[in-house]
Amino acid sequence: MSSSLPVTDRPRRPEWMKVRAPSPDGRYFDVQRLVHGLRLHTICEEARCPNISECWGRGTATFQILGDTCTRACRYCYVDSGRPDAPPDALEPLRVAQAAAQMALKHVVVTSVDRDDVADCGAAHYAATIRALKAKLPDASVEVLTPDFLGVEEEALATVLAARPEVFNHNIETVRRLHPHMRGAKASYDKALWLLQRAKEVAGYDVMTKSGIIVGLGERNEEVVETLRDLRASGVDVVTIGQYLQPSPKHAKIDRWVHPDEFRWFREQGEKLGFGSVFSGPLVRSSYRADEQRHAALAL
Ligand code: SF4
Repeated sequence: MSSSLPVTDRPRRPEWMKVRAPSPDGRYFDVQRLVHGLRLHTICEEARCPNISECWGRGTATFQILGDTCTRACRYCYVDSGRPDAPPDALEPLRVAQAAAQMALKHVVVTSVDRDDVADCGAAHYAATIRALKAKLPDASVEVLTPDFLGVEEEALATVLAARPEVFNHNIETVRRLHPHMRGAKASYDKALWLLQRAKEVAGYDVMTKSGIIVGLGERNEEVVETLRDLRASGVDVVTIGQYLQPSPKHAKIDRWVHPDEFRWFREQGEKLGFGSVFSGPLVRSSYRADEQRHAALAL
């Protein structure tokens, strides 16, 4: 039997979750040709992001380094999980920089799969990528959305932050109660908070920190506010909140469609807590209009 049968018990998408298909207008196909031609991965494609038409049409994308196979298996994430069959590609940082330069990006966002199989969990590869970007695009800002660097957290933070990214992002993803179920035994809610707080201490410069929450996984709105409070108490500057979309029948089911009014309420709560920027909306993703998120926080 085919494993790609339509999912019949998935709740119907409300109007506010509808997105447009790629159009030949804009730069969508240029970006596609470039990233495929340079054998790069993007989280836009790997996670089937609903914003891909808009973001690629604007000539932006979020690079996914360290391969396409993640050593974790979070219940909401579509990225392939398993045991990667190759070490980090030493030339990948240069190709990312080449792509970013050809796209003339002013703010470059880089994320990765988790690489628990590599001794430093990929920290040196992040640092090499940041350095390659800064060498090729000295006027661009760089944002990294990192894994938790399980077991080598302190050294990995020092390695990544020595390359001086402007934004250090680590997504907490969900509320404390759901964290173990959604993220598995290796991840920890408190460790995510610690990593964000420690990044500021280790950096030695004014790094902007950022985190993201997915809603629609079974959390209550008050728990989201509790998580916002925890993030703010850890010194986080920028936060994103967006609707979960079930990527396949094997993944966690959507618990609810969060209404745009609730997203507005989350934003107001975050602003009251003092975040520099709160992007909260059904289609908001961590890297969605990341340049604008950063500028909003800088403008405060
Ligand atoms: S929101 Fe982020 S992941 Fe999604 S398409 Fe845009 S840049 Fe890519």
